[in-house]
Amino acid sequence: MAPSRSPLNRPSIVQAMTHLLGPGAVETGDEQLKEASVDRFKKYTAVHGIYDGPIPALIVYPRTTREVATVLRFADDHLINVVPRTGRTATEGGLETVVEDSLVVDGSRMNAILSIDPVDMMATGQCGVRLQVLEDAVRAQGLTTGHSPQSKPLAQLGGLVATRSIGQFSTLYGGIEDMVVGLEAVFPGGQVTRIKNVPRRAAGPDIRHIVIGSEGALCFITEVTVKLFRYQPENNRYFGFLVEEFADGVDAIRELITAGYRPSVCRVYSPQDARQHFADFYQGQNVVVLVAEGPKPLADATAQAIEELFADRPHERVDPGRIQDWFENLNWGQDQIDAEKAAMLRDHHLGYTTEVSVDWSRVGELFEAVMTRIRTEFPRLGDLTMLGAHSSHSYQTGTNLYFVYDYTINSSPREEIEVYHKPLNAIIVEEALRLGGSMVHHHGIGKYRTAWVEQEHGSAYYLLSTLKQAFDPRGVMNAGTIFPLEPDDE
Ligand SMILES: Cc1cc2nc3c(=O)[nH]c(=O)nc-3n(C[C@H](O)[C@H](O)[C@H](O)COP(=O)(O)OP(=O)(O)OC[C@H]3O[C@@H](n4cnc5c(N)ncnc54)[C@H](O)[C@@H]3O)c2cc1C
Repeated sequence: MAPSRSPLNRPSIVQAMTHLLGPGAVETGDEQLKEASVDRFKKYTAVHGIYDGPIPALIVYPRTTREVATVLRFADDHLINVVPRTGRTATEGGLETVVEDSLVVDGSRMNAILSIDPVDMMATGQCGVRLQVLEDAVRAQGLTTGHSPQSKPLAQLGGLVATRSIGQFSTLYGGIEDMVVGLEAVFPGGQVTRIKNVPRRAAGPDIRHIVIGSEGALCFITEVTVKLFRYQPENNRYFGFLVEEFADGVDAIRELITAGYRPSVCRVYSPQDARQHFADFYQGQNVVVLVAEGPKPLADATAQAIEELFADRPHERVDPGRIQDWFENLNWGQDQIDAEKAAMLRDHHLGYTTEVSVDWSRVGELFEAVMTRIRTEFPRLGDLTMLGAHSSHSYQTGTNLYFVYDYTINSSPREEIEVYHKPLNAIIVEEALRLGGSMVHHHGIGKYRTAWVEQEHGSAYYLLSTLKQAFDPRGVMNAGTIFPLEPDDE
């Protein structure tokens, strides 16, 4: 929590923004401002109506890049903290307004699909285009973005790029960093920057990566161009296998990936985690899920490699129809989020996740180390109702582990994060770093993993912190996100 550094008070900020963008672009309702002060990191306190942090001065809804530039110029001139947002599905505190009288800049009204180009195979949209809307539009032309995070119905292009998001078909299509062709962003002071769309270039470092993953802490993303692929679901082949040990499942997908195959989906669930998804058929075992897709000869070749891989390994087979059904109901829209909120209030029970990545040779050790430390060190073990993990995104050199943990809250809502989430999250992050992995695979650092950001990057932290100094020298962009708040600010 930090005091405002702005010489302007709340009414003056609201008045100035109303003057600059018009009354229809400004929101100052109490409920809206309270909700804008947090993201899903504080979902348990929020469902109880508790908002202890600073409440923003207002939310503005720009409609054009020029308006975003106007807002950012004003914020920079008057030292007002800016919190960019689009789909509001952030999970790590990235939307939290930790500075008094922050300005929330909501890009969701910038929601036009600007072009779909089936020759050059790219689509351009403004930052507020929901991924589901873009995906539906390109599918109507027999194309796909290949991006399918579970939050696809809600997440929007700006946030998806800002968080370095990744989707369920990542092994074939990659993460968002592999999909972005070019983009437009506004930097503090109102500097509009367009990174043009080219297939590849060797004109210096890849400057797209200054923006991708910047979590609102460097700039405001206004427009994004992503690649398109042919959509050929008729060729999809679904596979499910039950295996006795988690390590056996990981070993199988390692062999498949490092042999050069690229199933679009490649997952291994521990039994505890599998129970939440596959209660009907998991039989207390680990579940391996694979999907082969693409042009028919390629999908068939991948499917054949999967068959051969498991021919030599002890397993039980799952009906492919069940895996396909599961996929078709995996994504979360507003209904699921509302149902989760109602259940939290009713049951005082919560599920959370921490996703990290590690080299193949350390996956088993990471899994066991986290399980052991939580079971021996977590003081509220009796309240833990589930602890499991899955690997869901794999690479030539390693994979991610997505730890999932549910607990019953036998404390006041305000204590939930300190008593339950933080100690569990810390163990997972510490173990990933100890084993040479990354403390965050795809949700972003937000405000709740900043304590480890220097350890994460080591001597390369110099590069990251220099970006902040260079592009946001007055420190107005999403304070406390990626970069810890300075002690003087707290
Ligand atoms: C149910 C659920 C499932 C999820 N599944 C996945 C998943 O499968 N894969 C995955 O990667 N993530 C997942 N997430 C996390 C989240 O959906 C992603 O991080 C997503 O990319 C956020 O997009 P958004 O539009 O909602 O961004 P927001 O929540 O609005 O913002 C996220 C961050 O980006 C910044 N930001 C937003 N818009 C802009 C902009 N225009 N310019 C600059 N910065 C901006 C914000 O300041 C914030 O730090 C999931 C979340 C939920 C709730």
